[in-house]
Amino acid sequence: MDTSLRTLFSHLEDEEVTFFADLILPIPVPRLFTYRVPRGMAEILKIGARVIVPFGKNNGRVLTAVVARLHNSPPTGYQARYISEVLDEYPLVTSYQLELFRWMSEYYMCCIGDVMNVALPSGLKISSQSKVQFNPDFDYPELLTPVEEMLLTELKKHPALSYEELGRLVGEGGNVPAVIKSLVGKKAVIVFEEVKEKYVPKMVRKIRLHRNYEEKEQLLVLLQRLEKLPKQQEVVMRYLRHVPVQITPSLNQKGLDKSILNQDDELSQSSLTTLIKNQVFETFEVIQPRFADNLVPQAEIRLTDAQRQAAQDIMAQFERQNIVLFHGITGSGKTEIYIDLIQQALAGGTQVLYLLPEIALTTQIVVRLQRVFGDKMGIYHSKFSDNERVEVWKGVVSGQYQFVVGVRSAVFLPFDNLGLIIVDEEHETSYKQHDPAPRYHARDVAMMLAHWQQAKVLLGSATPSLESYYQAQQGRYGLVELFQRFGDATLPDIMLVNTQQEKKQKTMKNEFSSALLDELETNLERKEQSILFQNRRGYSPYMQCEDCDWTAECPNCAVSLTYHQRDAELRCHYCGHKEAVPRVCPVCGSTKVRTIGYGTEKLEDQLQIIFPQARILRMDLDTTRAKNAYQQIIQEFEGGQVDMLVGTQMITKGLDFDNVSLVGIFDADRLIHFPDFRATERAFQMLTQVSGRAGRRAGRKGKVLIQTTNPQQTILQKIIENDYRGLYEEEIQERQNFNYPPFSRLIKLTIRHTDKAISLQAAERLAAELTDALGESRVLGPEEPLVERIRNQFLFDILIKIEREKMNVKAVKAYIQDRINDILTDKGLRQVSIVADVDCL
Ligand code: ADP
Ligand code: ZN
Ligand code: ZN
Repeated sequence: MDTSLRTLFSHLEDEEVTFFADLILPIPVPRLFTYRVPRGMAEILKIGARVIVPFGKNNGRVLTAVVARLHNSPPTGYQARYISEVLDEYPLVTSYQLELFRWMSEYYMCCIGDVMNVALPSGLKISSQSKVQFNPDFDYPELLTPVEEMLLTELKKHPALSYEELGRLVGEGGNVPAVIKSLVGKKAVIVFEEVKEKYVPKMVRKIRLHRNYEEKEQLLVLLQRLEKLPKQQEVVMRYLRHVPVQITPSLNQKGLDKSILNQDDELSQSSLTTLIKNQVFETFEVIQPRFADNLVPQAEIRLTDAQRQAAQDIMAQFERQNIVLFHGITGSGKTEIYIDLIQQALAGGTQVLYLLPEIALTTQIVVRLQRVFGDKMGIYHSKFSDNERVEVWKGVVSGQYQFVVGVRSAVFLPFDNLGLIIVDEEHETSYKQHDPAPRYHARDVAMMLAHWQQAKVLLGSATPSLESYYQAQQGRYGLVELFQRFGDATLPDIMLVNTQQEKKQKTMKNEFSSALLDELETNLERKEQSILFQNRRGYSPYMQCEDCDWTAECPNCAVSLTYHQRDAELRCHYCGHKEAVPRVCPVCGSTKVRTIGYGTEKLEDQLQIIFPQARILRMDLDTTRAKNAYQQIIQEFEGGQVDMLVGTQMITKGLDFDNVSLVGIFDADRLIHFPDFRATERAFQMLTQVSGRAGRRAGRKGKVLIQTTNPQQTILQKIIENDYRGLYEEEIQERQNFNYPPFSRLIKLTIRHTDKAISLQAAERLAAELTDALGESRVLGPEEPLVERIRNQFLFDILIKIEREKMNVKAVKAYIQDRINDILTDKGLRQVSIVADVDCL
């Protein structure tokens, strides 16, 4: 469809009309902005194209906006400014995406600009906040103008230049956005925002024989010459064992990681240095590929009978249903079934999106998928640099990527022909974005996308969310279940350990029950791997004075500070505040300051003391901050160099190891008794998922030990029996009794202010107004949340429950928004902020 202005208004004479465009600006203002279209631009401007516009006082800022509407009526109330530049000849944002932006801003009660801001990678948004860097991959295939040439020369001298600095270089009258646009088009520069990490390709130092020795004869001469220098000869031989140049000379060009050659001894180190100096070897650098590059292509997968049956059932249900829930136990081979379905959808000529939770996406599954789909598959991950995200975006537009595997933000990619969306681990709460707006749930957004593009949605999980299972029970989704592990593997045996009792009998060693220690020891002897799960990071969550009961608390938040031993500091997990560990109690001066409770760091420590010979790794937020850290830990564990892995919920997600036969779970009680109506469901999911890491291969039945003070709790029995159905029946009844989801929709309003009285006043007024309109049963609060002060802001929550069936949800949201706006514009309540979280978790 040609949406250019000339076509839209072809019935009008050119001279008579001034054209206007309604633009989505990447700012939190709840409306579109009307700009004037300069004469020459009318020919090319299209809905969905990006433009650059001036913004703010004296046009002081520059922003990238997206065209949402084209028309010829001037705005009322303000003088429209001119668009300065068009970035796209063809729409970058599809009509489906525009629809999605609109729907999301309405449904999630946020500004359309917020949606666009999150949707577009910052590399697609030139603004006065932009930084520009020279593209390290650029090799001058293009013609450059003198100005471009000059800027590139400057850019090469600096890591990056700001928009303003470029402006100064271009000089008065120069058009910075136009030059940047041109350079981006030529792939000579990369645009990014300062907050984000910039694109630096990771380099590996490699080594190869000097070209003079590539041929067999010269190589022989060299080896003879080195006869008298055995150390150097040994290094060359070592190289040849890895890279058999004598057989295939061309292999030499690829070389070998330098680290492999001089691994162990210092002698080989110095020999290597000499060999390099004497030009026998030469060093060079290459860009490290993001994922393994020499992947062995996957031989065709043969589904087992049970798997084939499940795949067929799913396809059959898609005949009648748009959404199918696939409930398959851990290790049943869901991924293999997905692969089969993806292949079918691609063969049908449609696009496929495969959503995974953040963490799961970093490793194993991606490698498995790559072995099947190779470089036809795009990967969209938040740990990737912006540049990499832009590449995927463009690959979807160009058709290079018919299939993308990605995290929740992948729902924003410019698909226009989706046939299938898979939401793996659909129960995962990380599909919901908490901050900033839009606070969307990727599973629900995926369903909207699918609805518009007539695609099918497959929700997969070993522990479905109650919401989804309920929909399946109601017949609104299809349901396929698979209760058999792949091969002859079976679900692990789960045992409960009564820590109360062990404490009485004094058989606990620190946090470890004797039962668990025995199993760990046996496992270590058998050289099998163990996973230990404690959903709390740091060394210990409290630091307290034994004499006066003082506890270390965050100065900005209403929480205790967590002790981190390795960095010898106290940290707030809410605001990031850090302080040194006090040697004496700051109140009474006592030296008896001790830590209470335990996190992963402490467990790792104690474990190492108990098993000095064991190789132990820890996986939590603190050990995985670096870009490749997560992958590294997984690889080491996979490679068998590690006996025990201690971790937070990170280790529960989608990992598939051959040799894990024991899982130990700490502090299950805390998960179960968390004060939230979803706590039971969550505990079941988390404990079942982490248990599912054990015994995933035939012939090695796994064992799971759960430490608890009360083995009688019914939920623990359900976990042991893998009784999802029983859990569902019980929980759904509760939800119905109290009118919680899936029987209602929840909207949480959080009111914040640095003055507690003002915060409370605003919250009470809002709650009263909403209660008046909606009735008491639908409005709960205001209430102080568990952590009632964060970053020195006092918080109050109001929870609104809206029945799914009877209420007009749209109208209710509009009403709530109006009441919020009233308060925000009330001068008596200055600086109050109110955040609406729709479908809050
Ligand atoms: P789930 O996601 O359901 O927990 P996975 O898809 O990770 O299970 O499968 C568990 C293991 O079994 C994986 O290592 C997988 O490669 C293997 N597997 C499953 N099905 C097959 C199959 N049909 N052929 C070969 N290997 C399979
Ligand atoms: Zn004290
Ligand atoms: Zn804090």
